[in-house]
Amino acid sequence: MYKQLSQEILKRLADIVGEEDVFSDREKLEDFSHDEFSLRDIGRYPEAVVKPERTEEVAAVMRLASSEHIPVTPRGGATGLCGGCVPLYGGIVLTLEKMNRVVEIDLANQMAVVEPGVMLGDFSRAVEEAGLSFPPHPGDESAMIGGLIATNAGGSRAVKYGVIRNYVRGLEVVLPGGDVIRLGGKLVKSSTGYSLLHLLVGSEGTLGIITRAVIQLQSAAPLSRSLVVPFDDVDSAVETVPLLMSRKVVPLAVEFIEQEVIRITEEYLNKRWPTSAGRTCLLIILDAATEEEMDRASQEVADACLEKGALDVFIADTPKKQELVLDIRSKIYEAIKSLTVEILDICVPRAEIPGHVRRIRAVSREYGIWLPTFGHAADGNVHTHIMKARYEDGKVTPIPEEEWREKAEKVRAKLYADARARGGVISGEHGIGLVKKPFLIQALGAAQVDLMRGIKRLFDPDGILNPGKIFD
Ligand SMILES: Cc1cc2nc3c(=O)[nH]c(=O)nc-3n(C[C@H](O)[C@H](O)[C@H](O)COP(=O)(O)OP(=O)(O)OC[C@H]3O[C@@H](n4cnc5c(N)ncnc54)[C@H](O)[C@@H]3O)c2cc1C
Repeated sequence: MYKQLSQEILKRLADIVGEEDVFSDREKLEDFSHDEFSLRDIGRYPEAVVKPERTEEVAAVMRLASSEHIPVTPRGGATGLCGGCVPLYGGIVLTLEKMNRVVEIDLANQMAVVEPGVMLGDFSRAVEEAGLSFPPHPGDESAMIGGLIATNAGGSRAVKYGVIRNYVRGLEVVLPGGDVIRLGGKLVKSSTGYSLLHLLVGSEGTLGIITRAVIQLQSAAPLSRSLVVPFDDVDSAVETVPLLMSRKVVPLAVEFIEQEVIRITEEYLNKRWPTSAGRTCLLIILDAATEEEMDRASQEVADACLEKGALDVFIADTPKKQELVLDIRSKIYEAIKSLTVEILDICVPRAEIPGHVRRIRAVSREYGIWLPTFGHAADGNVHTHIMKARYEDGKVTPIPEEEWREKAEKVRAKLYADARARGGVISGEHGIGLVKKPFLIQALGAAQVDLMRGIKRLFDPDGILNPGKIFD
């Protein structure tokens, strides 16, 4: 169906980006065959990797790929969790890592102009140095701006500050045929036709390649403080969130974490979480412009939590204490990674979290499989990990492959069905990619997926850009 890369095409790619920025030796291609999705069996090797440095080079590669009918898969930091940058049909992986300049931080408009290969960590630091802030903070700082936009990444601060989509004001995009379009700009408003800008946000590299972005910034980051609050059950923990909102406290983040993964991460890092009480903990992060405002918000949070049955309230008010709790929270992923089959990314209406978590626990008991669960409580985004293990009496016991493979499928189907019944979606922030593709029709219905297919055909009539992703 697609054309294989010949020596002649490799030579033409080298003419575009330079010889040192094209390679096709098998041992170097392994790194480009997967992302962070746990199971390597979804991986596929590309035939070549190209590393363009300028928009014109991206456009020339796409013109060549389009005329020769070669698939191209855009790739950012490869921190994705659903196989989005896996080159399913081989061809070219086009990595944006060399387009990594923060072109401009425009103080007057409070906007940044960036290339797609800038890493989140580097971008946040550059913005802070300029005295401004970029509030969204998805969990992996090596994710790149292009990938963050292509997946419409979220992260724990979405409850107060929204997701990446809310910050994208302009995009430069190379279309599959090699044309370059510029959408939006340093604009706060636009009602000028269909918003192709927002269509590109979250399009997972299937409609065009993002080569530049205009990003909205905000005034400098205010003070922040973390509260760790143990509860006996997840219901009371999550019910605290609407109570806080009704008292006009909108936290920067509200994470709920089950104690069992905290224990395991404590051991992994040799660090201590502030409490071992209860079954579920809320990690509530507040930000405020002044100490007075922070103290008032902290008091409101403590009162609301205690009213809902919190067992205690621990305040991390020094940078060192704050760093400790945030470190433990962010390293859960690493601590249990070797036994993880898949990280689900279900998003339900906030008030449905307790019911969904009860269902997860029942499914875990029914199948005898460990399903540690934590997530962004205030925005309903629940990250259940399907594990290759059982968890009993504080002990993790691995289970054989034929058993976890079969169980993982059944568990996933049950939890997706539960999400659907609660008015939820199968991905709140990671995207569909390769891994969730079989579940999209069930989640959205054939009419919506057909419209999406029509849009894809319009942008990419030859189906060469990141084929096989989101839907077939
Ligand atoms: C430890 C950890 C924590 C995480 N926490 C969060 C979190 O809190 N919130 C969250 O939302 N996600 C989270 N993620 C998932 C991941 O970081 C995000 O999905 C991120 O947006 C992916 O960015 P990336 O640059 O790594 O993209 P990649 O994985 O390289 O690619 C992702 C998709 O974007 C496409 N793409 C990449 N660059 C471009 C471009 N320039 N133009 C067009 N398409 C492009 C690819 O083709 C692919 O479909 C986490 C991942 C890890 C490993």
